[in-house]
Amino acid sequence: MSGARLRVDLARVLANIDAVRELIAPAEYMQVVKNDAYAHGVERIVAAAAAHGVRWFGAFDVPTGVRTRRAAGENARVFSWVTVGPEEISRAIDAGIELGVGDADYLERVAAVSAGRGIPVHLKIDTGLHRNGIRPESWAGFVERAARLQRDGDIRVVGVWSHIAETSDEADDRARAEFLDAVAIARAAGLTPEVLHLAASAAGYARPEFRFDLVRFGAFGYGIRSTDGAELPGVVAAAALIAPVTAVGSDTVTVGVGALDGLPSVLGGRASVGTPAGARALRTVGDTELTVAGWPGAAVGDKVVVFGPGSYGESTATTLAEAIGTVGEEILVRVSPLLPREYV
Ligand SMILES: *Cc1c(COP(=O)(O)O)cnc(C)c1O
Repeated sequence: MSGARLRVDLARVLANIDAVRELIAPAEYMQVVKNDAYAHGVERIVAAAAAHGVRWFGAFDVPTGVRTRRAAGENARVFSWVTVGPEEISRAIDAGIELGVGDADYLERVAAVSAGRGIPVHLKIDTGLHRNGIRPESWAGFVERAARLQRDGDIRVVGVWSHIAETSDEADDRARAEFLDAVAIARAAGLTPEVLHLAASAAGYARPEFRFDLVRFGAFGYGIRSTDGAELPGVVAAAALIAPVTAVGSDTVTVGVGALDGLPSVLGGRASVGTPAGARALRTVGDTELTVAGWPGAAVGDKVVVFGPGSYGESTATTLAEAIGTVGEEILVRVSPLLPREYV
């Protein structure tokens, strides 16, 4: 291959998963695969992780859930939490997907489509993010209704969950207290959720009391660290954006990145890339080309690592994100689906 591509090191993803799984045991590990597995590719990531013993996958939307089911096989548990209409509920049921339910009308819709099939659901309490989830003041009525629908055989409440900001320990602690209250109220209503889950990568990694039965890891599985700068032992970037030198000028080389669609132009002047001669300044970011400070002997066809694990002096995707004040996965999820993926 000679053109630009995103190279994904599957063994590195599995090593990241191992490092995190060991840390959080006996809590279970869920690999979140939204945004095409943070641009790493749903099918390859899911197949590799499932073969490596990962039992839980988080898919956000139903189409991704269906792709995940196909790649993971029958024994995996696939969780999808976006609120959808009857047709997609039906597709989710057929694919054995467990649904996150954080809306009273949605609960009714799922029960109606289920019509006695005992669909596994995870009820979501809103612990402060206000994105989706039942507000604490409505929770008691909601779980009463869920218990009724469970007795009727339409749903099976297998989980209670929430999502937290992971930007301040104090806010997360308050969210955790609200979560525990919600679980107690659900149990008092006669529900027996077997899987409690609250945390994503940052809190799940750093704070044992946030792990409960299951932690939903997106970023850390791919080696995207959180934006607080902390290095995580055993967690290393798994994707590298590699592109060829297409022209050599007197002190600048041009790098062809093809349909990159999304590397922000403001990165020009703020980051370094990896070259055969080590780190070099990234000067400008255009739609299909970058310019980079030259090096002695630079030649057309030389490989430049725009971001990656750092082995050639390049920035990681997380460092690039930080350079422009955004979160770790932002650079990766903007990589165009048209850019070829290469798996090693
Ligand atoms: C994206 C997402 C995650 C994973 O978050 P990371 O910070 O990438 O680990 C977990 N849970 C939900 C509900 C999400 O939307």
